[in-house]
Amino acid sequence: MFPAISVTRASKPKQKPAADAPLGFGQIFTDHMFSMDYVEGQGWINPRIEPYAPICLEPSAMVFHYGQAIFEGLKAYKTADGAINLFRPQLNFERVNVSNARMVIPPVDEAFCLYALKELLKIEQDWIPTADGTSLYIRPFIIATDPYLGVRPAHTYRFMIILSPSGRYYPQGLSPVNIYVEEDYVRAVKGGTGFAKTPGNYAASLIAQAKAYKTGYVQVLWLDGVHRRFIEEVGSMNVFFVIDGKLVTPALNGSILPGITRRTVLELAKRIGLETEEREIAIDELITLAKSGRVNEVFGAGTAAVISPVGELRYKDEVMTFNDGKIGPLSQKFYDIITGVQYGTRIDEYGWIEKV
Ligand SMILES: *Cc1c(COP(=O)(O)O)cnc(C)c1O
Repeated sequence: MFPAISVTRASKPKQKPAADAPLGFGQIFTDHMFSMDYVEGQGWINPRIEPYAPICLEPSAMVFHYGQAIFEGLKAYKTADGAINLFRPQLNFERVNVSNARMVIPPVDEAFCLYALKELLKIEQDWIPTADGTSLYIRPFIIATDPYLGVRPAHTYRFMIILSPSGRYYPQGLSPVNIYVEEDYVRAVKGGTGFAKTPGNYAASLIAQAKAYKTGYVQVLWLDGVHRRFIEEVGSMNVFFVIDGKLVTPALNGSILPGITRRTVLELAKRIGLETEEREIAIDELITLAKSGRVNEVFGAGTAAVISPVGELRYKDEVMTFNDGKIGPLSQKFYDIITGVQYGTRIDEYGWIEKV
């Protein structure tokens, strides 16, 4: 039995976007949010669904100063028959506790968090957009709230879930992106927080992202923090290479975020009989392989885009193009299967879907 969640309804529900309105990403928020608080000695208390509104924190709240926080990202999909699908949400809440452990935030009850999310979604279900490729983006997060400037783990926290109707990731359909291999800045190091979904990793990445934009690229391929040689991730996605027909991705090493889409692609590859390899991949090895035409496809994998084909990679003065800058057959196949299961147009023979 879960603790009761109190519900306070919004007195003035907002105008929902029109069915064909461009939604963008992360700009519109629904009428309600879920919150609960952690107080040392009492645990997670006061679970509640209340109107989406600004929150009141002291300027001294620890999250503002030392960044003790974690977040998650997943989506709710409305199927043609009106059902609401979540995609492997248990894994997101499992990962909350992995991130929490690294950031010294007390663990949450994963099953209760999923229950709370479903209760929130039942109230907000009319906010889930239905146009092709759209979804309701779900952002659970935790912040340290003690009003205190000393450096130590906080004694009080807030867990929240907010919801944002979001548009198609690719308005013109799945199309390859050009990526810049960052050789100075790094995102994470072994022993650091790379495997945790924590805001500081993103703060650290912005400068390289800005540099990539300035150079005419849309995203960064990160190399490892010690040698600046081994490939880690692309932007905020895990990265895959099809090399000699085999699916290769960097092994999880502590500085790479263990993506749920990454895990899904690997599991799917095994099911369709594709050979997979999780290992170290050096950028110089990739260049050599690419020059001899052995890199058939490159793609990023993450919740936002699902699959993001890479058309071109630039490392120093080397420019590599893959599959003639067009989307490759395996990228397309993974995209079609995963999104098909998410939107309910394909039978979920994998047990990935959790109905609300
Ligand atoms: C969230 C995230 C990913 C992708 O994880 P998914 O669970 O597949 O969405 C990859 N890299 C980074 C840095 C991330 O924050």
